[in-house]
Amino acid sequence: MMAAERTFIAIKPDGVQRGLVGEILGRFERKGFKLVALKQLTPTRELAEKHYGVHRERPFFEGLVAFITSGPVVAMVWEGDGVIASARKLIGATKPLDAEPGTIRGDLAVNIGRNVIHGSDGCETAAFEIGLWFNSTELNNWQPSDYVWRVES
Ligand code: UDP
Ligand code: MG
Repeated sequence: MMAAERTFIAIKPDGVQRGLVGEILGRFERKGFKLVALKQLTPTRELAEKHYGVHRERPFFEGLVAFITSGPVVAMVWEGDGVIASARKLIGATKPLDAEPGTIRGDLAVNIGRNVIHGSDGCETAAFEIGLWFNSTELNNWQPSDYVWRVES
């Protein structure tokens, strides 16, 4: 079987501290994606700087790294056809006031610096971020019993 598409998702410290972990996990589960890895950790500065390396020159970088390392993050890998783009749709626009109602940020956030969740923005980013946050032994290769109902025929 071909390796299906995977994306890296992280509930940021605001999402964890506001008690939104279950709400957010539920949206990905109900959509029908498959959870292949899940852990809670407080990121080191090194991990946070690598994760947000593309934003190193941006004015918000220091604040972003300080925030993301300030407490526990729930890091996940979700799998499914089209999961990278679909997860970005479920998440909504970066600026929560521009995010559509029905999206995670549209429903649950108001502040761009506290927008609850991260999701990989493309194939290469997803591969990089999954490798950065997880060891291969933490990624579970499994087939849900309703697998045939999840794939387009
Ligand atoms: N961010 C911020 N101020 C900005 C732009 C971004 O604090 O003006 C933060 C915000 O938390 C965002 C993260 O930096 O989620 C990464 O920015 P990106 O443009 O990659 O947005 P995302 O991919 O998370 O939607
Ligand atoms: Mg991004």
